[in-house]
Amino acid sequence: MGTDGQQNTSFIQVSGLQSIKTKIIFFALLATIIPSLTLGALSYAQNRKLLHNKIANELYNTTTQTAGEVDFWLKARLYDLKVFSSSYIVSENLQRILGKQQDNIERLVALDRVKAYLQSVRQKFTDYRELILVNMIGESLVSSGTETPVVNLPDQWFQQLEEGKPVIGTPYWDPTLKRRVVVLAEEIKSPDNKRLGILATKTDLASLVNILRRKASKSTDEIYLTDARGTLIATSAPDFDGSSRSDLAAKTLAAGVDFSRLPVEYDSHRDQKVVGLGAMVPSSDWAVVAEMEKSGAYADIVRLGTWTVVLVCVLLMAMGLFAYLLGHSIVKPLQRLSGEAGKVASGDLEVDLPVHGNSEVSYLTQVFNHMVASLRRGREEISQAHEALIEKNRELHRLSITDSLTGIFNRKHVMDLFDMEFIRTQRYGTPFSVLIADLDHFKSVNDTYGHLAGDSVLRSIAKAMVESVRACDHVGRYGGEEFVVVLPNTAIDGAMDMAERIRQTIRRVKFNNDGEEFSMTLSVGVAVCHDDDNSVEAILKRADDALYRAKANGRDQVIGP
Ligand code: GH3
Ligand code: MG
Ligand code: MG
Repeated sequence: MGTDGQQNTSFIQVSGLQSIKTKIIFFALLATIIPSLTLGALSYAQNRKLLHNKIANELYNTTTQTAGEVDFWLKARLYDLKVFSSSYIVSENLQRILGKQQDNIERLVALDRVKAYLQSVRQKFTDYRELILVNMIGESLVSSGTETPVVNLPDQWFQQLEEGKPVIGTPYWDPTLKRRVVVLAEEIKSPDNKRLGILATKTDLASLVNILRRKASKSTDEIYLTDARGTLIATSAPDFDGSSRSDLAAKTLAAGVDFSRLPVEYDSHRDQKVVGLGAMVPSSDWAVVAEMEKSGAYADIVRLGTWTVVLVCVLLMAMGLFAYLLGHSIVKPLQRLSGEAGKVASGDLEVDLPVHGNSEVSYLTQVFNHMVASLRRGREEISQAHEALIEKNRELHRLSITDSLTGIFNRKHVMDLFDMEFIRTQRYGTPFSVLIADLDHFKSVNDTYGHLAGDSVLRSIAKAMVESVRACDHVGRYGGEEFVVVLPNTAIDGAMDMAERIRQTIRRVKFNNDGEEFSMTLSVGVAVCHDDDNSVEAILKRADDALYRAKANGRDQVIGP
C-alpha cells in the first residue's frame, strides 16, 4: 500500500517551470525588471544629458569669461604701449638718435633721455619687464634694462605693422629676466606721420597666470592660453615653471578642441583623458582652453549609472524575496493538500488537515477534509454491512446443514460428509463405518403422548447420540426417527463398539410425560466401507439391511455385517 501511495502521489509532484512558485517569482521579477530598467534607463539618459549640458555650460562660461579677461588685459597692454610710443619724448628723441646731422653728444643725450623715460615707464608698469626702442630694420637702440638689449620680434612684425595690427610675439623664456615673456610692439611715428621705429616690451605673463588660476574653479582642472601654433602662453597649473614647456598645447589643437560650445574628449598634453573646450581671445590669435579630467567630470554620471543598477538590483532582490514568500505561502498548503490526497488515494482515510486563515486554499482544505470524512463514514458503513452479510451467510449455512427439529446435521449434510469420507477412504485407504439407528416403536410414543412429546423425545435422543460419539464423528437425522452416524477412520470393531455404546446410552435416557416415566430402545445397523465399494449407496444399503435384520430379530440390538 505504501508503494502504491507513493506512486499515486508522484504524479502531483510539480517542479521547475510548471511550479506555481516559479511562475510567481518569474512574473514578479519580470514585472519589476521591465519598468525599473525602463525608468532607470530613461532617468539615466535624462540625467546624463543634464550633466553633459552642465559640463558644457561650465566649460563655456569659464573659457568665454577667461578669454574676455585675457582680451581685456592684452588690449590694456597694447593701449598703454600705444600711449608710450606716441609720447613726444620718444618720437622727438628717436628722430635725434636716427638723425644724420646730429652730433654724437646730442645723440647720446637723446639716448639717455629715452632710456630714462623707458625706465620710468618700466617702474610704473610692472607687467613690462623691459622696454626697448627698435629701429625699422629691427636693431635695438636703447632699453630700459641691459646695455645690449636683445629683442625677439616676430618674423612678420613689419607686415603686421603694415596691416595696422598690433605686433604680438611668441611667448618665450627670457633667461636674462628669468621670466616668461611675450614681446608686444607698437610703431613710433614722427609728428608728420613718418614711421620712425618701434617700441617693444617684454611683457611679463605672470598676470595672465593669475587670471587663469583665478578662473580655474574646482571642477575645471586646468585652464591655459595658447597661440595659434600651439605655444603655451600661460596655464593655471601650479607645476608650470615656464622655462621648459612651450608647444605642448599644439597637441590640444591637433586633438581638435572645439571653439564653439561643444566640449570634446581627447588626450591632454598631460596624456590624461580630458573633456575640453576652447574660446578665442578676440584681439589676438590666442585661445583659452579649459579642461576637466574626464573621470572627474563624468564621475556623477558614472555614480548615477551605478546607483541606477544598484537600485534595480535591490528592487529585484526585494521583489524576488517577496514573490518567493508569496509563492511559498500558496504552494506549501497545496503541497500538503496534494500529499494528503495521495494518502487518501492509497487508502489512508485517517487524514484531517489543519485549516488556517480564510483563503481559497483554506476553503479547498475544508472541502477536502469534508470529502475525506464522507469517505471515512462510507467505508465504515460498507464494512459494517459486509460483516453483517458474512454473519447472515454463516447463519444461512448453519441453517442449510442443520435439522430444524433436533439441531443436529440434516440428512443432506450428513450425506455430504459421508461422500467426503468415502472419497478420503478411496484416496488414503483408511477405513470408515456407518451406523443407521432407528427408534423402536416410536409411533406408539406419538400415539400415546402426542406429536409434541414425540418431537421432544426426538430432540433428547439426538442430543444423547451427539454426546456419546467422538468429536470427529458426524451425527445426522436421516429422516423421521432414524439417525445416521458416520465414523471416520473406524473399522468394524470400533463401529460395533460405538453402536453398542449409543444403544446403551439411549436405553438409559429417561423420558417423562406428566409424571409418567418411560424410556426408549434403539435398533442399529452397522456397515463398513469395503475396498470394492463403488458408491456410498452400497454401504448405506448394507447398513440399512443390518438395521432391518435388527428389527426383525426383536429390536433393541446392534447388527453388523
Ligand atoms: P418400528 O419399531 O418398526 O420402527 O416401529 P415404529 O413405530 O418406530 O415405526 P413406524 O415406521 O411404524 O412409525 C414411525 C413413526 O414416527 C410414524 C410417524 O408418525 C412418526 N414420526 C416420523 N417423524 C416424526 C416427527 O418428526 N415427529 C413425531 N412426533 N413423530 C414422527
Ligand atoms: Mg423408522
Ligand atoms: Mg422405528
